[in-house]
Amino acid sequence: MYTAIGYAAQSATTPLAPVKFERRSPRADDIAIEILYCGVCHSDIHQARNEWGIAVYPLMPGHEIVGKVTAVGANVTQHKVGDLVGVGCMVDSCRHCEACQANLEQYCLEGPTMTYATPDRVDGSNTMGGYSDSIVVSEHFVVRIPEKLNLASAAPILCAGITTYSPLKHYGVKAGDKVGILGMGGLGHMGIKFAKAMGAEVTLFTRSASKAEEARRQGADHVIVSTDDAQMQAAAGHFDFLLDTIPVQHDLNPYLDTLRFDGVHILVGLIEPVEPPVHAAKLVLGRRVLAGSLIGGIAETQEVLDFCAEHNITCDIEMLDIRQINEAYARMIAGDVKYRFVIDMATLKV
Ligand code: NDP
Ligand code: ZN
Repeated sequence: MYTAIGYAAQSATTPLAPVKFERRSPRADDIAIEILYCGVCHSDIHQARNEWGIAVYPLMPGHEIVGKVTAVGANVTQHKVGDLVGVGCMVDSCRHCEACQANLEQYCLEGPTMTYATPDRVDGSNTMGGYSDSIVVSEHFVVRIPEKLNLASAAPILCAGITTYSPLKHYGVKAGDKVGILGMGGLGHMGIKFAKAMGAEVTLFTRSASKAEEARRQGADHVIVSTDDAQMQAAAGHFDFLLDTIPVQHDLNPYLDTLRFDGVHILVGLIEPVEPPVHAAKLVLGRRVLAGSLIGGIAETQEVLDFCAEHNITCDIEMLDIRQINEAYARMIAGDVKYRFVIDMATLKV
């Protein structure tokens, strides 16, 4: 064990504050990482405030981690001291179930061990995330950061990137498809870039008319202001695929109307009951699909990093001093970030 430092919430209503805590010494298959950058995901806010009802305190968020290997366990083969590596939303899984065998660790039948607020599979301790100077992770859950990528703007690929890439890939989005991205925050702006790189004609649905110009700069071909009924109705029957990153309950019915027959609406932002209810006719009459998607497996996380390097895709980030983390949360809730905060861990001192 050694003493690490980081920022954690002690309850759903207290702001994040500096803490010292114990991290394990590397086990045989572990890698110890000095964290250089960590992205700030909206899930961090949901969890710190216990909005999903599963938080465990103290809760140290952070699952968009980039850093440098400082030590490796005796059996580690994939990474060595000094390598630049990343850790995303998971740090372990059962590794033998059908999902794990299919490289879909995020759907582990026994439940993946998430990077924070989950019991470690070996010692039962509460996992602590990347708002920290260091982390210790089994090598299977550590990915390589391609040399070409800027380290700070690569961090959000570990969650915002993989979460948007994976469903676009799974549903075979291809050149000429009409894709709608719902919400332009951390996930949404990456969704636009990936759909564009896959050759789709991309439309952003946003509440914020002021984001129109920015969206085009990100690669969107069109923008629909979702609060404008006339614009929504004009898009009826148009889209092949919708990627919905909206983090709060919202009416899906007007969006389903914009899908063609056989169109697909994928939820990534919502894990609460859908409210108001979906009118089943909107699915039945057009053989439309409404489904969800969770991050991506480790192999696919490596794939998306390599895809970003190959296609020169980067996240638009705002560097954050960790001492401003609570203000950053407030700004994210207000939609005031372009488009991902990334903590510069050099600012972390306890
Ligand atoms: P952000 O806060 O960065 O962006 C969310 C965007 O949604 C906003 O920029 C805004 O876009 C839109 N939005 C926000 N509030 C509302 C509202 N009240 N009504 C309609 N639209 C709204 O969040 P992230 O991109 O980091 O995360 C998005 C969601 O995805 C979160 O719920 C997060 O927990 C979840 N998530 C899911 C993952 C998965 O594996 N399924 C993985 C990672 C995150 P605009 O202004 O353009 O309308
Ligand atoms: Zn996330």
